[in-house]
Amino acid sequence: MTLRCPNCGSIQLGKIGADQYYCWNCFVEFHYSKERVKMYKVSEDGGLVTIFGDN
Ligand SMILES: [Zn+2]
Repeated sequence: MTLRCPNCGSIQLGKIGADQYYCWNCFVEFHYSKERVKMYKVSEDGGLVTIFGDN
């Protein structure tokens, strides 16, 4: 199974946690849980900003 970035469709993903991945193409992190995907963007100050999914 090949995971694709839900934001840009790239397959250039780095695994950073159990269900967490980082896209090298569009620089978002995303987290897969059972039924939902959360997407985060790393802000300039190093924090994570949720850009998709509930908090
Ligand atoms: Zn991407």
